[in-house]
Amino acid sequence: MLELDGAAGGGQLLRSALTLAMCTGQAFHIRRIRSGRSKPGLMRQHLTAVDAAAAICSADVDGAAPGATALRFTPGTIRGGDYAFAIGTAGSTTLVLQTVLPALLCANTPSTIDLQGGTHNPLAPPAEFLRDAYLPLLQRMGADVELELQRPGFYPAGGGALRASIHPCPLQPLTLRERGALSGLQALAWTSGIAPSVGERELAIVQRRLGLDAADLQRRTVQPPSGPGNALLLFARHEAVCEVFCGFGARGVSAEAVAERTCEAVRDYLCGSAAVGACLADQLLLPLALAGGGTFTTARITDHLQSNARLIEKFLPVEIDWHESDGCWQVDVRR
Ligand code: ATP
Repeated sequence: MLELDGAAGGGQLLRSALTLAMCTGQAFHIRRIRSGRSKPGLMRQHLTAVDAAAAICSADVDGAAPGATALRFTPGTIRGGDYAFAIGTAGSTTLVLQTVLPALLCANTPSTIDLQGGTHNPLAPPAEFLRDAYLPLLQRMGADVELELQRPGFYPAGGGALRASIHPCPLQPLTLRERGALSGLQALAWTSGIAPSVGERELAIVQRRLGLDAADLQRRTVQPPSGPGNALLLFARHEAVCEVFCGFGARGVSAEAVAERTCEAVRDYLCGSAAVGACLADQLLLPLALAGGGTFTTARITDHLQSNARLIEKFLPVEIDWHESDGCWQVDVRR
């Protein structure tokens, strides 16, 4: 049984451990789960990830309960099939999907997975990020996955729905040193249960700051709304990679401020030369390690990337390191 210390990071360490346990057959015991967070231990989103992982590989789980700070997970055999999991809160469905996706790629039959909860959560990948940034890179590595955002769900009401169809196939290494030429910038503003003019104001700022054509601005409303919500998504499409940046409306924050901040993130990315942003960087490590290797460039080495790298090395015979190269960081995953 592998002994893990969850204090080195957040929920990501638990989710990565679940994915790696499923894919390698290695059991683990994790303590001090999310111990540095204001509400330590397992929250609904993390518990749903544990339940989903356990259902998919018939695992023995000991200790999974709301607020628990330790658990044991002993995986069995991965089975493809049709699965459905409801988080029960606005917890992130995309993080649950990312936990089980690599395992379902190793199954012996295709799968569908239906998830209910939040699809656009602060501090988690929005559904469009998975669809346009993360999955196309996995597809380049050989994965055959389709993702459908059936209904957006925002914090705190949730009520969103995502469906993924997964056809098993082995992952191949990926090299992503350069992003290539810019092929398009687009914006999408979602509003749910609030004035649609919030989305219009955000798009007006995006048009002004980034010089987008009207045809590249899209506004959508959730009908009928489960609760209030607003997300602004900006897509920076390059030859080799698409990056997706997200801003969230919140009480007391103007639509203009949300849009200015999100445009700033896009501008920072466009001014640099790195292929992927900080979020995609920490999320790519696991698929690259499962594929046996790969390389990408990114602007910064975050705590998430470092703690995820050290965890992955405990499960798989890979070395993950990074060095500065041409004004950004090159991350290498090697067997
Ligand atoms: P905790 O509450 O302990 O922080 P958590 O389960 O919510 O735990 P983290 O451990 O912080 O999650 O991991 C969040 C994941 O979401 C990371 O992989 C991060 O890259 C990703 N992420 C956060 N914000 C975005 C975003 N705007 N776009 C894409 N991915 C994001």
